[in-house]
Amino acid sequence: MLDSFLLLPGNCIACGAAAGRRADLCAACEADLPWLHSACRHCALPAPPGTGACGRCLRRPPPQRQAVAAFLYGFPINSLVQRFKFHGDRVAGRVLAERLATALENRDGSPVLVPVPLSRVRERDRGFNQAALIANDLAARLGLVVDESLVARVRHTEEQSGKSAAERRRNLRGAFALMGTAVPAHVAIVDDVMTTGSTIHEIARLLLAGGVKRVDAWVVARTP
Ligand SMILES: [Zn+2]
Ligand SMILES: [Zn+2]
Repeated sequence: MLDSFLLLPGNCIACGAAAGRRADLCAACEADLPWLHSACRHCALPAPPGTGACGRCLRRPPPQRQAVAAFLYGFPINSLVQRFKFHGDRVAGRVLAERLATALENRDGSPVLVPVPLSRVRERDRGFNQAALIANDLAARLGLVVDESLVARVRHTEEQSGKSAAERRRNLRGAFALMGTAVPAHVAIVDDVMTTGSTIHEIARLLLAGGVKRVDAWVVARTP
C-alpha cells in the first residue's frame, strides 16, 4: 500500500525504494523527474528551445504574461502531487516547492504570490489548501511575499476534471472575487497543476481588471 512507507525515513517518497539517509527521492526517481526544459513562455506548454510564444498564444494571448512550470505532469510528479494533495503528505509538498523554486531561479521581477483559493467547503474537507502551502514555501525560499486574501473563491464549483475547456470556463464563471482595492503591480498566481489553464485565466483576468499591471503563473506541473 502506498502509505505504508509514509513513516519510514530513508525511503523514496515516490516509489518506496531505499533512497539513502538524507534523500527524499531515490536515484532512479530523481533521474526520472520530467523537467520541462523548454516551453511557451505564456502558457508553459512544451515547445522547441527558442520558441518564445507558441502559435496558439500568438493568435490569442492568454491574460498571464509568463507561465512557469517546473515539470510535465508525469511519473513521479503525479504521484507526489497526489500524495501531497489527497493524503496531506507535507514532505511531498516540500519536495515539489523546492523543485519549483529551482525552476524559478532566473525569473524576472518580485511578484506578490497569490495561491489559487479553494472554496471554504473544499478547504474544510481537505484541511489545507495545497496551492497556499506551495506559495508559502516558495516565498520563504525566494524572499517573496504571499497574499492569501487578495482573491477569494466565492462560489463552490464542481470538480474541473473530466470537463471540456468550454465547460470549465462556464463552471468557473463568477467563482472568484477580488477582495480589497489595494492591489500589487505584479502578481504570480501559484498552483500545483495547470491543466487547461482556465482557472489561472479566470483569476488573471480578475486581477488585471482590478488594476494589477502584470500577472504571471507559477505551477509545479503542466499537463501537455
Ligand atoms: Zn523512487
Ligand atoms: Zn503558448
